Amino acid sequence: MDSLYIVVPCYNEEEVLHETTKRLTDKIDRMIAGELISQDSRIMYVDDGSKDKTWQLIEELHGQEPRVLGVKLSRNRGHQNALLAGLMTAKDLCDVTISMDADLQDDIEVLDEFVRKYQEGCDIVYGVRNNRDMDTGFKRNTAQAFYKLLKFFGVDAVYNHADYRLMSKRALEGLAEFGEVNLFLRGIVPQIGYKTATVEYSRGERFAGESKYPLKKMVSFAFDGITSFSVKPIRMITTVGLVIFLVSLIMLVYSLVVNAMGHTQAGWTSMMMSIWLLGGLQLMAIGIIGEYVGKAYMETKKRPKYIIETVLRDE
Ligand code: UDP
Ligand code: MG
Repeated sequence: MDSLYIVVPCYNEEEVLHETTKRLTDKIDRMIAGELISQDSRIMYVDDGSKDKTWQLIEELHGQEPRVLGVKLSRNRGHQNALLAGLMTAKDLCDVTISMDADLQDDIEVLDEFVRKYQEGCDIVYGVRNNRDMDTGFKRNTAQAFYKLLKFFGVDAVYNHADYRLMSKRALEGLAEFGEVNLFLRGIVPQIGYKTATVEYSRGERFAGESKYPLKKMVSFAFDGITSFSVKPIRMITTVGLVIFLVSLIMLVYSLVVNAMGHTQAGWTSMMMSIWLLGGLQLMAIGIIGEYVGKAYMETKKRPKYIIETVLRDE
């Protein structure tokens, strides 16, 4: 039997940690009893530079409950980096990991199914939501738009899959090979390969605390995802540029003809319109290209994605 580490990034989650620990240890115990996973399975919390008592709580829980381990980042680096820090730490300590959110919005009863798929030979198992009834209409709509947008721009991501997923040691070693700084796990993980599977589950409500993903973070997350994986925005700009170039050829002929016929009117309206239109388009194009240049710049720096301050683990 293999040891399972459940990796949970936490940012200001003091309100949920007790309950989450209770539910997860109970689940792990039941899975051990069901002979799905080994005795040395653990919960690994990653404190993503929380401003509240999250880390003190993790330390406390680690003291009381042998199943709880902790990793503390030196500052807030965002959900994706915190998750990666946890996964990379866990990869050297266990056989298989499952990542999930601290609020347990994702039904933990499907963990058995995750592990069963793993035992059948899958290296990556994606948790896929089959309903979003519990989310607010706003969250649901923005999230749906997010997946559609990713798909439109050609990013190879699993539909309705957040970061609730099982990854084997081997898959994690593959993930470790990716050197990029702009980290978008949902786009990278499908690139690893190996045999994969999906498991459906229903998404519940956050039982305490509030979402750490406000609209602003979601928008920048989506933008990051797209520009990290797709050159489609640049191609679109190129297409628009081409179309405008063709139109301007027609306009050239047209204005020459009008000129030859002697009707050289002031043409102020069309002039103003084209100046504004082209000016706007050019700025937009420069902005998008700039985004890629900025990313290339960041990649060349090869900055560490996170720095671990402390690791709590078995002696
Ligand atoms: N999170 C994190 N760092 C951040 C923001 C969020 O580690 O900067 C964690 C958070 O503690 C939670 C998970 O990411 O475990 C998902 O956040 P949340 O449940 O607030 O997002 P939502 O479910 O509303 O999309
Ligand atoms: Mg949540």
